Formats: sequence, structure tokens, C-alpha cells
Amino acid sequence: MNKSNEGFLELWYSSMMIGSISMVALAIIVYLIYKMRVSMINDLKEKHDFINQNEVKWYKWFYYLIGAAAAFAVNLYGQDNNGGIGIWFIVRLFISICAATLIGYVASLVLEYYYPTVLNFKLRRLRYTPRVNPKTGSKMRLLSEDEEDVHLDEGMQAEENLFSIDYDVWVDEKTGDVKIEKYQGHLLALQCNNCGFYTMKVQREEIVERNEDGSPRELLKHYQCAYCKNVRATQFTISRKEAEDYKNQKPKRKGNPKNVELIKMDVHSNLGHKKSFEFSSVEEAQKFLSEFDFDKLV
Ligand SMILES: [Zn+2]
Repeated sequence: MNKSNEGFLELWYSSMMIGSISMVALAIIVYLIYKMRVSMINDLKEKHDFINQNEVKWYKWFYYLIGAAAAFAVNLYGQDNNGGIGIWFIVRLFISICAATLIGYVASLVLEYYYPTVLNFKLRRLRYTPRVNPKTGSKMRLLSEDEEDVHLDEGMQAEENLFSIDYDVWVDEKTGDVKIEKYQGHLLALQCNNCGFYTMKVQREEIVERNEDGSPRELLKHYQCAYCKNVRATQFTISRKEAEDYKNQKPKRKGNPKNVELIKMDVHSNLGHKKSFEFSSVEEAQKFLSEFDFDKLV
């Protein structure tokens, strides 16, 4: 091996070492900055929106940097027992690029398609954790009516790309204080009926029915799954209530029914029969119970 080759290899290996270490360091910094930014947001709704829009992006950067670190590290392999720059050098370089691509690609697939399920639980916890009235410190309660209704901001109705919003209305039952949170419906991912991932998002929305005075009444949301491309369309009633109207509204019942994902019910008869039922909402379960007659089922 001649002198200049030796010098080059020495430089090469030390740069690979520095590169690998600095990429790992950078990845850790990216992760910590993200976590710090999240922890600096106190408001649960703001935290929800920030995580919803940023977590996947930041985590991707973390894994891209880890991929780059791996590529540098691969080029350190076998540095003690070789002869100069040969074909193996090129092969190793090629393998290192493949390794980085693989890590980046697999991580972004996982983050795009699998991770939203995990994210969804995190986001739901932020959205439905009982709010605290800043004035009194007491817990507020989420109004549950009009769950199927969506809202349109006045300014939005004129826009071409119409996107409706969901209101979450929190009420302090003792003082009557109200906190209203607006969620952009099209930014929230739903579970796809076909593949089961939380990758179903609104693509576009259109007004399909109007009232006599021309104000919009029914809205059709077109969803598409980012993973399996399955589509679905759901119609919603457009609420005529503005955010302010909720301030005079009293909660209809106790509890926090919006938190419920599934209700399982076992009904045992005195003859030893048993029937199991599942419901997706408190309303459904209540309706079922009010009409329930065991004899008709057996
Ligand atoms: Zn799907």
C-alpha cells in the first residue's frame, strides 16, 4: 500500500467515526428538542394540535439521522485488516448506502402507517382529558350532544377548499363557564375499515344540501386511506350554532360519554341464559336497554 493511500484511509476512517458519532448526537438533539417543545405547551388542545402535526415529521428526522449514522459506521467495518483501496472499499460504501436507505425507508413506513394508531390514543387522551376551569380549578365536562354535527367557520364557507370543524364544548357546571375548542376535522386521522390503520383522512368536503335561505345544511366528507387507498363518504349535518350559542346550553346528562369507545354488556336471565352485546356509544346502549326483552331473544 502506498503512502498516499494510507493517508487517505486514515482520514477516511476518522471522518467516518466522527460522522457516525455526530449523526447519533444530532438524532438525540432532534429528539430532545421535539420533546422539549411538546413539554413547553401547557394547553392540552394546543399540545394535541402540535403533536398531531409534528410528531411523525420529527420522528422521521430522528430515524433519517440514525440511518446516516449507520452508514458511517458500516464504513468502519474491517478497517484493521485490509490492504488499500480495492473493490471491497466500493462494495462496503454501497452496502452502507443501502443500510441507511433501508433504515430511513422502514422507519418512514412504520411512522406513516403503523404509528398513527399509537398516536391516535395519545391524541384522544389529550383531547378528552377533562379540562380545568382556570378561574376556579374545578373540572369541566364535555357536552355530548350534536356529536354528528359539524361546523363551518363563516369565512370558510366562501373558500374553495371547504373544511369543516368540530367543536368540543367544555362546561363548568358549577359556574357555567364554557371553554370551546375547535378541531380541524380534516387533520384528524380515523381508523380505516378496510386495513385497520388510523390512516383515513378527509380529502375534500362538499355541501350537498342547503336550507331555503341558502345556508348550508348537509355536508359530505370524502375520506381516503393513505395506506390501502380505500375510500368512504359520510354525510354530516351542518350545525347552525355558533361557538357562542353553546354558552347558554346546559349539559343534558352526567358522565363523559364522548370518552367511550365500546360498551360490552352481558345479560344473564334467571334461567341461566346469557347474551352478550356490544355498543359503540352510551346512547345506543341506553336505547337497547330501554327496549330490552329477554324472552324475544331466547
Ligand atoms: Zn386502509
